[in-house]
Amino acid sequence: MTVHLLNGFTCNARAPTHWRTGALCLLVETRDGLVLVDTGIGQQDYLRKPAILQAFRVLTHVPLDPDQAAIQQIARLGYAPTDVRHIVLTHMHFDHCGGLADFPDASVHVHRRELEAFHGRRRRWTDAGYVRRHVAHGPRFVPHDDAGESWMGMSAIRLPFEHEIWLVPMFGHTRGHCAVAVAADDGWLLHVGDAATLNLDPVAPKWFERLVLGPHGPSLRAFRAAHPEVRITTGHMWLDFFQTAGI
Ligand SMILES: [Zn+2]
Repeated sequence: MTVHLLNGFTCNARAPTHWRTGALCLLVETRDGLVLVDTGIGQQDYLRKPAILQAFRVLTHVPLDPDQAAIQQIARLGYAPTDVRHIVLTHMHFDHCGGLADFPDASVHVHRRELEAFHGRRRRWTDAGYVRRHVAHGPRFVPHDDAGESWMGMSAIRLPFEHEIWLVPMFGHTRGHCAVAVAADDGWLLHVGDAATLNLDPVAPKWFERLVLGPHGPSLRAFRAAHPEVRITTGHMWLDFFQTAGI
């Protein structure tokens, strides 16, 4: 099954200027139709920028190229928006689920705790990344709970597709944040979302990484060393990753 790697949101640091990043979304071709893992920001965000996105524009260079909306990239691959049957969310920050409204027919799979955090009272500063209007169209959510299963030794939830895709809870960055494991043509791909730094590279002090992304960085680096056969990606990747992938 082919997995396309899409950049759903370019965000470049003002300093250091070589910190140029894109938000990784996976588009998985399966027998159940297309499965999109995270959406990046959506078409409505280009027309009416959420406050959190405006704040990002103060701190970083955000080119905001509307061609980068997942729906546009998917169209360039020859698909219609309705071909996206399922969306799987690592978490519901604006840069990961802003495009939900572009795929109103898709079922949206997310950990129940994340959905509750999104709809609940704002409790911690990272909750500022939630934008309520991203779900104003009433997505068809499918909340998932831990079910006592595991994927490669980690507690995980098998999603209801013939194609093997797992939610792997990694709470911390948000209260219901999950990694997503996808069976690809060339082996497993573990997309860890915002549970770790860019490509797991040590770009921030450990205390800062723990504060912003949660406690999983060290164990994910150990997992990568122990399992070189598993490809690991993060929610934000260096821009040259996408350029190498021809995106
Ligand atoms: Zn996030």
